[in-house]
Amino acid sequence: MEEVSHLIKKAKAHKIPFPKNYASEFLIFEKGEGVYLFDLDGKKYIDFGSGIAVNSLGHGREDLALTAYEQMKKVVHTSNLYTTEPSLVLAEKLRALGNFDAVHFGNSGTEANEAAIKYARLYSYNKKGLGNHKILAMEAGFHGRTMGALACTHNTAYKTSFEPLLTDVEFVPLNDVETLTKKLDSAFAAVIVEVIQGEGGLKMMTGEYAKALNTLCKEHDVILIADEVQTGIGRTGWPFACSLVDLEPDIMTLAKPLAAGLPLSATLIPGKINDYLKPGDHGSTFGGGPVTCAVAGQVLDIVFDPSFLADVRKAGEYLAKKLEESAKKFSFTGKILGTGLLLGLEIIQPLGYANDLLKEIITKSEENGLLILRSGKNIVRIAPPLIIEEKQIDEGIEIFTKVLESFEI
Ligand code: PLP
Repeated sequence: MEEVSHLIKKAKAHKIPFPKNYASEFLIFEKGEGVYLFDLDGKKYIDFGSGIAVNSLGHGREDLALTAYEQMKKVVHTSNLYTTEPSLVLAEKLRALGNFDAVHFGNSGTEANEAAIKYARLYSYNKKGLGNHKILAMEAGFHGRTMGALACTHNTAYKTSFEPLLTDVEFVPLNDVETLTKKLDSAFAAVIVEVIQGEGGLKMMTGEYAKALNTLCKEHDVILIADEVQTGIGRTGWPFACSLVDLEPDIMTLAKPLAAGLPLSATLIPGKINDYLKPGDHGSTFGGGPVTCAVAGQVLDIVFDPSFLADVRKAGEYLAKKLEESAKKFSFTGKILGTGLLLGLEIIQPLGYANDLLKEIITKSEENGLLILRSGKNIVRIAPPLIIEEKQIDEGIEIFTKVLESFEI
């Protein structure tokens, strides 16, 4: 720490050598244990954010660390010119999860979606011919920060300075079957959707909308991409959120919790796309390395155990109940959103209140040892590690309630 002591004041980093697209001040964490994190001064925080829905098995896991260590001693990287047993094993496990023929590995959510867009475009070009390349995405949807995934992200605040992005991306409101039916035709290569809009306000797709997507995409031969980067691998109490509404995607994208905090993404594709692919069409130097894949294999074994998923659902119900009990006491709180361990609480910005109340709630929670997230303009997002226990939920909700009390007029 000696070399950077000039940047650190009270467990916080200032004058940070990171670009200004990040905050000007960062809390510095030193270690974690289960659902807790500890800062440089040893202060304890309960983690209701999981590093933006990533650390789903909690912090400081020796079992996962050991897997990574054992694999690092053997081989760390081979490139995509060769492969390794952990990568093969993981690809087989992921492929078996649905109607998928192959798995493309990358390193982040945005890369998984970038690959999905390319695969859908390639399919459409080969099957339907030049010009049928449009992409349909949802209002309030979020798919990442690289140029293709960003084009499919709705919030213009993230996009305007970088125009022109990928062209011919159009947006429709989620759950409006009529607009979808009027809009979608075979000139579209893909529709990209989230079942729960993780970044955009936790709105959830209806079963009726999922059914319309399934039918219309088949009718017009449009590739249906389910972005499960945030909702996948047990976050909702089910392996994937698609099953909550019976969405039948052609492509599924995964990342965040896949390797328990190590960077790994997967784009799961069907045979009808794989059949058109030839060497060189897409690739990644780092994607699917043996260390991340070995850890991800272990993550899937743990999370997809039916009793683990049942516990996630139980914890989710308990958290939703506690959140509701807490929210009822305040004039500026609204609906509870989400499901499983991806939950939200609406904050109603009081008229005439000059500051961003939600931002203040997040900051004050952090000061009091609770880490929470934001979703959209006005939703507190709670996405704790999936291993959270009821007494830890109580502990977090107690801090949260006290924080809310301090804002009640
Ligand atoms: N897709 C969804 C649904 C996400 O929530 C995110 C990140 O928040 C991404 C894609 C982008 O993932 P990454 O930040 O790993 O590129």
